[in-house]
Amino acid sequence: MASDGSDPIPPHKTFDTILVLDFGSQYSHLITRRLRELNVYSEMLPCTQKLKDLEWTPKGIILSGGPYSVYWDDAPHVDPAAFELGVPILGICYGLQEIAWHFDNKNVLAGEKREYGHAYLKVERHGDGQTGGHVDGLFKGLEDDMEVWMSHGDKLGHLPEDFITIAKTINAPFAGIANKTKPLYGIQFHPEVTHTPKGKFLLKNFAIDICQAKADWTMGKFVDQEIARIRALVGEEGQVIGAVSGGVDSTVAAKLMQQAIGERFHAVLVDNGVLRLNEAQQVKETLTKGMGINLTVVDASERFLGKLKGVTDDPEKKRKIIGNTFIEVFQETAKKIAEEAHGSDKAGEIEWLLQGTLYPDVIESISFKGPSATIKTHHNVGGLLEGMHLKLIEPLRELFKDEVRELGTNLGIPEDLVWRHPFPGPGIAIRILGEVTPEQVRIAREADYIFIEEIKAAGLYRNISQAFAALLPVKAVGVMGDKRVHDQVIALRAVETTDFMTADWYPFDGAFLKKVSRRIVNEVNGVCRVVYDITSKPPGTIEME
Ligand code: GLN
Repeated sequence: MASDGSDPIPPHKTFDTILVLDFGSQYSHLITRRLRELNVYSEMLPCTQKLKDLEWTPKGIILSGGPYSVYWDDAPHVDPAAFELGVPILGICYGLQEIAWHFDNKNVLAGEKREYGHAYLKVERHGDGQTGGHVDGLFKGLEDDMEVWMSHGDKLGHLPEDFITIAKTINAPFAGIANKTKPLYGIQFHPEVTHTPKGKFLLKNFAIDICQAKADWTMGKFVDQEIARIRALVGEEGQVIGAVSGGVDSTVAAKLMQQAIGERFHAVLVDNGVLRLNEAQQVKETLTKGMGINLTVVDASERFLGKLKGVTDDPEKKRKIIGNTFIEVFQETAKKIAEEAHGSDKAGEIEWLLQGTLYPDVIESISFKGPSATIKTHHNVGGLLEGMHLKLIEPLRELFKDEVRELGTNLGIPEDLVWRHPFPGPGIAIRILGEVTPEQVRIAREADYIFIEEIKAAGLYRNISQAFAALLPVKAVGVMGDKRVHDQVIALRAVETTDFMTADWYPFDGAFLKKVSRRIVNEVNGVCRVVYDITSKPPGTIEME
């Protein structure tokens, strides 16, 4: 949580935790998510984690899938100490092969047939006799025939000693294995993906029944532990500063800080002149009057717009100007706040910088990318930290986005804010293609406002992941009131996505688009045409610049 590595009360010390060791599968993080959805806390670490370096004991370990073959010379292997820990272990795909390999390094081979996609699994039960019954635990309560999802080319040639088969498919005679005496299990299919419809029950059997992990991971409980953790970290007098944007992450983080340390948390909203219509004002009202957050709003619109003037060629340049100016303004403001907070002679006693890092950012920086991978650190606050000598505090760093939303609701943050679509740091500057001028900002803002207002009125806001109006750098001819006009073109964009990595455009009905188009052309001066962007991602991106 803190950049210096000290963490007084990490969740894995408060909550029973299932450790997922990541062998590089693209689904590894989903295992963690599914467990959290079952209210069982789970954390992911790279497969290279040495267990003696772990300062806590997991209730169980899951070995993920991975793109390697266990019999390769440079294949990653789990720390053998995992098998000495005495906690249950479940291997998924590569993980199953890894367990088998650990006990008998001749039994995994390249299969003649690769198996990708759906498969039918037949569960084999052994009753209570010879094995004491625990081997049946993984499929307890599940039907004998299961639809599962597979993605593998290697397979087990034979069972390691003391293991028995607990499930089969036509292609994989050892699709599920279990140790006869110890709680060690392996499955060839992926229970974490939704294509394995009953996969979550299997993970539940493992985590709750077999590992006996308490299902107490709820946002209500997290709030209490997190507030205690922030207080322990910051101390009786420590002060924290953080930027807020009105987005869900920074608002939830700010509310948590306010509950933990009250006025000693200083929120800063920088109005960069390219926020949405009335946004700075609205965020101010909600955060101060509604939520009691100690907020400073800095109107730096002119400064930002002044620097953006004349920039027409390269969109990256806009992003850089806005990013750098933001850092300058934030640092100046932080200095002022520090002086006011402590009297000018003791300036700079704010020690901490709040950052709304989420678990996917953490996963991205630690996930296993292969034997030669270097560990990547995230650098989104790099610029701020360099100039400010602050320590980082990241109260959301264990949470997935849906957990942040649940936490927000739990903290009483208005629904509107909790479900707000993501909004880019450079704001509508990157939705104004071409030069950003005050007049272009006005047009883009008004059009966007109408579009979002209509989406909300039609009850579609939550079905859409991100929507906005962009202003194109072209002019088109139109006829308005019998007069020929030569005005600008607005492009509407709305996408559906679960992870923002891929996205599809939202299929509005014609009547809706007609209404939005009519309103924009009628109400926004300077616009004579509206088009709808029907490009998916890839090849498009969600934003236009
Ligand atoms: N590389 C291994 C195989 O092909 C494991 C694949 C996986 O974990 N998805 O069988």
